[in-house]
Amino acid sequence: MQLCRFGYDQIGVVEGDTVRDVTEALELLPSVRYPLPGADLLMARLPQIRVRIAELLATAETYALEDVTLLSPVANPGKIIAAPVNYRKHLDEARADADIHHQNQVADIHRAGLFLKASSSLAGPGTELVIRHPEARTDHEIELAVVIGRTGDRVPRERALLHVAGYCVGLDITERGPQERSLRKSIDGYSILGPWLTTADAMIDPSGLELELKVNGELRQKANTSDLIVGVADLIVLASSYYTLHAGDVIMTGTPEGVGPIQSGDVIDASISGIGQMRVKVAS
Ligand code: MN
Repeated sequence: MQLCRFGYDQIGVVEGDTVRDVTEALELLPSVRYPLPGADLLMARLPQIRVRIAELLATAETYALEDVTLLSPVANPGKIIAAPVNYRKHLDEARADADIHHQNQVADIHRAGLFLKASSSLAGPGTELVIRHPEARTDHEIELAVVIGRTGDRVPRERALLHVAGYCVGLDITERGPQERSLRKSIDGYSILGPWLTTADAMIDPSGLELELKVNGELRQKANTSDLIVGVADLIVLASSYYTLHAGDVIMTGTPEGVGPIQSGDVIDASISGIGQMRVKVAS
């Protein structure tokens, strides 16, 4: 199932070029009192909600996909976890660039571990990306994004993929410079998820997906998740060895080679096979 958020916090099922509005299923979610739960309410209850969605589909109002504004498929991730350098060729490219600019030391993921992006940086593809510091170089990074569906602490590898609710196309927009990653990559709107959540049951194997990113029609990044240094299951093992994963938490798995600058007015097209494609406009 391809589950999207769109418009005014509606939820929909994407089928081809159409969106079926199944927002009514959200009525099954509990009303909450302060303090709010640490997990995303929808992701934590997705199996039950899907039963209701199936009932609603036949009579659901339908929109053309091109007419809706797509939001991040996850509304309230507790944390956005990200892998720093997780493709071999991107490691070479990042090291070459660091030599030139005398910037951050670049270590591979086995040494650097993971970092966090502020959840306030989350946006959907339908929102224009505003480059906050145009004087700094700002890069695109396409990444397979994993959305967690159930609580996991010190998850064993053989059970890791059972904790996945689904997958999205992710853009880890990155300001370049000497500051900590968690600062440079946490600017409002710099964590883009879309175009929808492809549920895990629709894509059992995340290890052979084609990623492609174009800027203004020019191919910049093209790779396959089979080249990940640390794959999805091992990222879940690694992350949950440090902190409990909650439903709605997002893991951005790292970007392949070909990162490059974007500027105002650019149009980014990002796609991952088995998930979908999305267009993000950089505000002019
Ligand atoms: Mn990244």
